[in-house]
Amino acid sequence: MKNKNVHQYGPQTMAIHGGEPARHGVGAPVGTPICRTSTFTFSSTAEMKRWAEGKSKAYIYSRYGNPTLSVAEGKIAALEGGEAAVVTASGMAAISSALLGVLKCGDELISTAQVYGGSYRLMRDVFPDMGIKVHQVGTDLAGLEELATPRTKCLYVETPTNPTLRLVDLDKAIKFAKRHKLISIIDNTFATPVLQNPLGMGFDIVVHSATKALAGHSDVIAGVAVGNKHRMERVRHMVIDLGGSMDPEAAHLLLRGIKTLGVRVERQCLNAMAVAKFLGKHPQVARVHYPGLASHPDHKLAKKQMRGFGTMLAFDLKGGLPAARRFCDRVQLFLLAASLGGVESLVILPIYSSHYNMSAEELKRAHVSPGTVRVSVGLEDAEDLIRDLQQALA
Ligand SMILES: *Cc1c(COP(=O)(O)O)cnc(C)c1O
Repeated sequence: MKNKNVHQYGPQTMAIHGGEPARHGVGAPVGTPICRTSTFTFSSTAEMKRWAEGKSKAYIYSRYGNPTLSVAEGKIAALEGGEAAVVTASGMAAISSALLGVLKCGDELISTAQVYGGSYRLMRDVFPDMGIKVHQVGTDLAGLEELATPRTKCLYVETPTNPTLRLVDLDKAIKFAKRHKLISIIDNTFATPVLQNPLGMGFDIVVHSATKALAGHSDVIAGVAVGNKHRMERVRHMVIDLGGSMDPEAAHLLLRGIKTLGVRVERQCLNAMAVAKFLGKHPQVARVHYPGLASHPDHKLAKKQMRGFGTMLAFDLKGGLPAARRFCDRVQLFLLAASLGGVESLVILPIYSSHYNMSAEELKRAHVSPGTVRVSVGLEDAEDLIRDLQQALA
């Protein structure tokens, strides 16, 4: 875009033009070129010395930064309303780098218990060995005050949650974090920047699995962290040192996907609502978990803090695990696969995927039962999706 004052543009315009260089001369590429190189030249040792002294922002080596990655970073920062972003090789690279940029041995972290399985295992299996203590709190944040100690450094939340789409009250969470001077991090993957922008509410860092709705086509693993320049410098150092940098090819796929994010999420939300309503009326279904339904415990909160109800839902079958397995084995249009947020509709059983090696107690806290089916609603025609559900439940 010509005008760098981006604030006058809406989110869909930003998804298309945000982060892109000016392209108004003769022969400027409209598509973002893939800068497929591992290393970059310097004009002189004097320039290299400037780089070594931190006085030059020149690209040196693609693990540190690359022009294709920079475009993706500018675009996502614009979409989330952040000063800067760091793209990473996966969502988990963004999450681990953001957390390790904040926490050191002896520190304590408070996290909502219902987080993505990978994040949960990072906090349960890895952090304790590093001397980082993790406290868990429910999505209702009950008992939060009692968990804060002088060593608490960070509050980590995810909302809506996987797989039952419970919400965390963002206002409450941010007030608590500010009162205790904690750095607040939120996984915004399920909401997407289309439905929720937590930085504007006061959160310090937003992380995404860009593998999901941002890229949107089930063809790339990617992640991103967004926040102010100072915090993103810290995240970038962690990414550089831990090695979770994104590949330029992946950045190109991510950029291509993001351009249609707005229309995809809008339509997928409509499809999800249609699917949720259908399931809600089906005699085999015990319960539907979708924040768009008035029966969902967080429906009111969703209306308050989100601009739509999302593309994800879950449901419990009256017949428990055997019925859930039978359903998943019978769908034809829906694909039986992990992941979410892509154009293809997917179904999965959390107990065989995100929640695979969890105790009965852990499952109970996550509101997951053996008969819970999670659905990622794609971009197909809603009537076709419903017809497939109908035949698979018959
Ligand atoms: C998939 C996912 C992640 C992990 O992202 P990867 O790209 O697979 O590393 C983190 N958080 C949420 C909510 C996810 O759905």
